[in-house]
This record gives sequence, C-alpha cells and structure tokens, in this order.
Amino acid sequence: MISEISSNSASPIIVWFRKDLRLRDHPCLHAAMLAGQKIIPVFIWDSEEGGQWSPGASSRWWLHHALQSLAKEIKSLGGQLILKKGKAAEILPLLAQESYADKVFYSRTYDPYSIATQESVEEALDDARVETESFNSSLLQEPWEMKNGTGKPFQVFTPYWRKSRPVIYREPAVYEISKLPFTPHPLPSDSLESLALLPDYSWQQKLESHWSVSEDAAHQQLERTVHEVTHSYATRRNYPAVDGTSRLSPYLAWGLISPRQICHSVLQAETEGSHRGENKFLVEIGWREFSYHLLYHFPSIPDQPLRAKYASFPWIEDKINLKRWQFGNTGYPMVDAGMRQLYESGWMHNRVRMIVASFLVKHLLLSWNDGARWFWDTLVDADLASNTQGWQWAAGCGADAAPYFRIFNPITQGEKFDGRGEYAKRWIPQLESLPSKWIFRPWEAPAEILKTHGVDLGGNYPEPCIDHSEGRTRALAALATLKTP
Ligand SMILES: Cc1cc2nc3c(=O)[nH]c(=O)nc-3n(C[C@H](O)[C@H](O)[C@H](O)COP(=O)(O)OP(=O)(O)OC[C@H]3O[C@@H](n4cnc5c(N)ncnc54)[C@H](O)[C@@H]3O)c2cc1C
Repeated sequence: MISEISSNSASPIIVWFRKDLRLRDHPCLHAAMLAGQKIIPVFIWDSEEGGQWSPGASSRWWLHHALQSLAKEIKSLGGQLILKKGKAAEILPLLAQESYADKVFYSRTYDPYSIATQESVEEALDDARVETESFNSSLLQEPWEMKNGTGKPFQVFTPYWRKSRPVIYREPAVYEISKLPFTPHPLPSDSLESLALLPDYSWQQKLESHWSVSEDAAHQQLERTVHEVTHSYATRRNYPAVDGTSRLSPYLAWGLISPRQICHSVLQAETEGSHRGENKFLVEIGWREFSYHLLYHFPSIPDQPLRAKYASFPWIEDKINLKRWQFGNTGYPMVDAGMRQLYESGWMHNRVRMIVASFLVKHLLLSWNDGARWFWDTLVDADLASNTQGWQWAAGCGADAAPYFRIFNPITQGEKFDGRGEYAKRWIPQLESLPSKWIFRPWEAPAEILKTHGVDLGGNYPEPCIDHSEGRTRALAALATLKTP
C-alpha cells in the first residue's frame, strides 16, 4: 500500500474492477486521472472466490451484462476492458509486468472471501514491486469508522444511525468521463463468453424482460427514484403492488451506481423541494451500511447466527416443503406470489421478503440458511451483507432482529399490504378472478365460489402446506427449547 501517489506518467496504472462496474464516481479512475497516467481497466473472474457464497445464477447473469456494458463504454473512450479468469494474485503481477504498469488501484470489498483475495493481491504485488492503492467505492463510510460508546461495533441500528447520519453523506467525485485516459494499447483479454457466467438453461431469458443492465440504466432508475419515489416513499414502500421503491438494489450490488451518488441526488432534490423530517429512503441506505458494518465485524454470520444461542435451534429438514416454498407452492398466496416474483424476475419486494422469510423459518421451521441460499442463487441484487442481515433479522438470530416469537401471519399480511390482491393475482394468475375477500384464504371460500372463478385447490393452486395456527404453535414450541444464555 502506498500512502502518496507518486507519478511516473510513462507507466500506466491498472484499475482492477471488482464490485464497482461503473465509470462515474469511481475513486480509482479519478485517482488515476489525477496521477496523469494511462489506465488499463481489468476485471478478473475467480469462480472459486467466495466458496459456497460465490455469486449465484442471477448475480452471474447480472455480472455478464454489466461487464458487457462497461466494456462497451470503455471501448467508446478508446480503451479495452481486459477480462481474465483465475486468481487475481497470480494475474495482476503478470499484467503489470506485461504492461509496465507501476501501480494497481482497486476498490475495497468487505466480505471475508474478497478480503482474503485483497490480502493475497497486496502480498503478490508487493513481491513484484508494484504499488497498490485501495479506495472506498461502495459504501458511504467504512465499516470500521463507527464504534459505539465502549469502542465496540454497533449491534443495534438506531444508535448506529443516530451517530452515523450527521457525518455519513459524502460528495461523489466530479470529473468528465470523456477525459478518462484509457490506454489504446490493449493486453490480451479472455472473451466475455469464456467466463461462462450465463447459466446453460433458458431461465435467464425471463430476467431480460425485467432488467436493463448498464450504468446509464442505473442513472435512469435514480432519476425516477428522485422524481417519483422518495417523496412518497414513507407511505408507499410497504405495498408490493405499487412501484413505490427504487429498485436500485441490483445496480448497487455490482456497483453500477454508488450510494454516494444516490444520496447526493436525493438530498439535492430534497433541498430544492420542501421535504421535512428524516428521509425514510435514506434510512434504508443506512440499513445497507449497517449490514456491511455487521458483516465486516462478524465475518462468520453468513453461516452462523450472530446470537449464539440460536446455533442450537431445532430446525427441521424437509425437502418437500423447501421445494414448495422455493417455487411458490405453499398454498399461502402472499408467500407464493413473492416466491414466484423472485423466480420470474430475480427480485422481490422488501415487505414480501420479510413475509416469505418469516414463513420459512417459523411456519415451516426450516433454517434461515436454506432461505438465504435460495435467495443467494435467485436474487439479482444478492449481497452477502444485506442478505445475511435480512435472514438473521427474520429468524430472530441476528443483530437488532425481529424477536422470533413475533410471527407474521401470511393471511393478514396479505390483506393489510395487498388489500385488493393485485400483487398476488399478478404472480398467481390462477387466482386472478377470485374475489378479494378470499384471495389470501382461498381454502375458506365456498366450493361454488372457487369453481365459478376457476380455482381448483389441490389442482391448479395448492392447498396450504401447513395450517397457520399449527405452524405458529410448533414454532413457539421450538423456540421454547432454546436455553437463555
Ligand atoms: C430476507 C431478506 C433478504 C434480503 N436480501 C437482500 C440482498 O441480498 N440484497 C439486497 O440488496 N437487499 C436485500 N434485502 C433488503 C431489501 O429487501 C432490499 O434491499 C430491497 O427490497 C431492494 O429493493 P429497492 O432497491 O427497491 O429498495 P428501496 O426500498 O428503494 O431501498 C433503497 C436501497 O436501500 C437498501 N436497503 C433497503 N432495505 C434494506 C434492508 N432491509 N437491508 C439492507 N439494505 C436495504 C438497498 O440497497 C436498496 O436498494 C433483504 C431483505 C430481507 C428481508
């Protein structure tokens, strides 16, 4: 690591892209530009990094398209994105040698797997006498910047946010991307196809109709957020039939946009308008920061509960119910609509994520790890910090988690947040004409009503896989077996 960037303008700088696949507000590109050196942009795909948390199918689909778009943008500026497969610690020193680059700039990441990669890269480049400099590209503040009153990491969001909020917002870097000095002399690159990021089955085609993957698309989404979402976010964000949230999560996950850019635009619009009180939307960006704070300080949480007593929770193994849940066949329309939205589009509304997660870990007594893994494979926004935090929150075993005994009722949650059943019907067409009164409890509807409206319980739509109150009682009994620490 170097403390000051010395300038040898004849040598290029390698910018090693990671979860920062954009050209705007990119601290590494900005620093290279200020150093007055040419830039060689490189992305390295290591399918083994992350072990069991290596990017899932939806994430890889997103990554493929994000790389394609970034490569196109870089090409239009006279450069070439160099793609490589393998270990960054082996590849980067070779690239530096071949290109006579004297420095490698990269963005820091915070999960235990990519921290290990970072450390091995630092060591290998140090041996090769190539300087390195790392930057914060994906968070508002570093996870280690905030400590509680006793100098320890926070485990509760409210005090974390109270202390962070006054100091957390930072300006995005301002520079003209048309002036980024990419080198016109390319090194040999692997092809995008050879990275084999796309699944070899056709499921990905579904995702294509839901998402446009590029830095420009991220900014269009931000525009929409600032003009149509944030001012009514507090009242609309809980209703999944309404387009009341930003849908920026997958763009954030691979860094097609930065949280600095998002907060800056939102705060600017707020100043121009007349927003009063705390902006609820920015609090959610705060939850993302908090998730990274937790993952950084407690790196075992993707697999182990933060609250140790939950390690002995009597989860059951039930492959049949797991499959019913995964593919939206539990017989509870709110749960099934969410799981079908996820499988069809790679994304699910946050309110529904909470409902389906609660159903899995409480009604079905299946481990939060099973849920986290399915989300990991299917979400286009899969993010180890937020996914882990979300699942541990739902299972009651994480920091600031919902108590396990608070069990969401999947029927009344549907009635409360999707009163007319628009969301449920959108994802479960078999229930399309069923009157709203029965939409979240079709098994209570008289047989002739079901028949008239084309619903065949156990035929075109399943019976509930478990009775709500039985599931509730069983979950509470399981909780009672845990010893208090
Ligand atoms: C079980 C479970 C699993 C989850 N897994 C993920 C995941 O893998 N990746 C992911 O990005 N989010 C995850 N979330 C958090 C949240 O559901 C999504 O961030 C949100 O639904 C994304 O939609 P949006 O961009 O429209 O969010 P908005 O409501 O518009 O929020 C803006 C941004 O704030 C952040 N954010 C919002 N809510 C949360 C939250 N509860 N925790 C952390 N950050 C948040 C996201 O970056 C989001 O893009 C999970 C939540 C649960 C309950």
